Amino acid sequence: MLPDTPFDTIAAVSTPPGEGGIGIVRLSGPESFAIIGKIFHPYKKNAVSGGFRTFTMRLGCVKQGERTIDEALVSLMRAPHSYTREDVAEINCHGGAVAVNEVLRCVLASGARLAEPGEFTKRAFINGRIDLAQAEAVLDIVKARTGRSLDAALAQLKGGLSEKAKGIAESLKEVLVALEASIDFSEEEDVPEASPYRLVQRISSAVRELDALIASYDRGKVYRDGVLTALVGKPNVGKSSILNAFLKFDRAIVTPIPGTTRDVIEEQLNLGGVPFILADTAGITESENPIEKEGVRRSLAYIDKAGLVLLVFDGSSPLDERDIEIALAVKGRLHIPLLNKSDLPLRFSKERLFEKTGVGPDFVLISAKDGAGLKDLESRMTDCVVEGRTGGDYSLMVTNTRHFTALSRAREELAHSLDAIAECAAPAGRDTRAAASNPAAFPEPELVAYDVRSALDVLGEITGEVTNAEILDAIFSGFCVGK
Ligand code: GDP
Repeated sequence: MLPDTPFDTIAAVSTPPGEGGIGIVRLSGPESFAIIGKIFHPYKKNAVSGGFRTFTMRLGCVKQGERTIDEALVSLMRAPHSYTREDVAEINCHGGAVAVNEVLRCVLASGARLAEPGEFTKRAFINGRIDLAQAEAVLDIVKARTGRSLDAALAQLKGGLSEKAKGIAESLKEVLVALEASIDFSEEEDVPEASPYRLVQRISSAVRELDALIASYDRGKVYRDGVLTALVGKPNVGKSSILNAFLKFDRAIVTPIPGTTRDVIEEQLNLGGVPFILADTAGITESENPIEKEGVRRSLAYIDKAGLVLLVFDGSSPLDERDIEIALAVKGRLHIPLLNKSDLPLRFSKERLFEKTGVGPDFVLISAKDGAGLKDLESRMTDCVVEGRTGGDYSLMVTNTRHFTALSRAREELAHSLDAIAECAAPAGRDTRAAASNPAAFPEPELVAYDVRSALDVLGEITGEVTNAEILDAIFSGFCVGK
């Protein structure tokens, strides 16, 4: 899918904002080298014209007219051996708010256009260097939350998912060829009929492969997006202290006055490679204070959003009606009941809570104060969300909702085609396989071909063989500028 007209030259700062040792301005497009020639003055002569080898660096200064803007190291990557398959230049200048932006301004004044979010990666896709699933993997790498998330994204960048989708598509194309031959030449004697038995075998095997990918999504989504985990409980049971104990630094304000966490505080945790987004919600209580009321509203909304709830009780205080109400509100959700303050004498009745609400009986005992029980809690948390989903082959993990939806749609089309074959080949009451082995009983290959073609189109959406501008815009708008 090559563009009709050559692209213009784009530029952007590719390093994150803020102070840093180095800032990188990246250019891509036909004018990249000419622009470097205009603004970059290498200390060694002839370094740009002719003598500037690809994938090497030159030291010099960036100038706008007579004014020196910064000292920089510049590298050139000639098309097609570059990230975008176009001529790419990178100016490594000093980081910070001013130098890198001045260099960018100078590049823009010399003929480049400011890149849109994800435009470098979009060009890599449009110029055929990577497919769409790989382009999405680039975004996942940038946003990876843990080492495991990164492994999954790297496997996708290397083409793990794309290869699988293409493999399934190849075998479906063969099915389609056989079907189309029997449609086009059905009158001619020497053209082999599409054997329904073989077709059913092939399509069923594609369905099984799709099922394996679809099943990996639950795990994949956890590694890519993390598990939103809400700390829920009455004020003062120790929610903020638990968050702090996890983070091992004081992020939430901990005070002995009830109701101090009025907003929701979110922190990321990496527990055994599983990313959790731990949210400390305001204590659930009835309050007339409008700010606290808003806090309570948000914590209740969190229970709805959360993938996991840590239901916290104060083990050093007797169970009360509020504990019971909260337990009842959380009961239907995936939750872990915690008894905090285990360093103090136990006054809480786990049995009564269980009898009244069904929450428990398996409580994790912890002390946010001295850290006791935190290890147990960590393993309960990871077991809860990835039990039965750990291990295995990370290259087979579907992490992206768009891919999951496409795979599910393709599976649906194929299941439909199998139904169509069964209907034609096996009238009610007959064994499908046995009947399918009789080619004479298979009169409507058009119907099956239609479904198989639809499945192929949907699979093509994963790698971007079949796509449209809206899908591309939606995908690349999630990127940052400069990527
Ligand atoms: P929150 O309102 O649920 O967020 O509760 P906080 O984390 O603010 O804690 C309320 C009070 O309980 C503070 O004085 C904490 O120091 C104390 N606290 C929290 N966890 C423990 C614990 O494990 N043991 C003891 N002894 N005190 C704790």
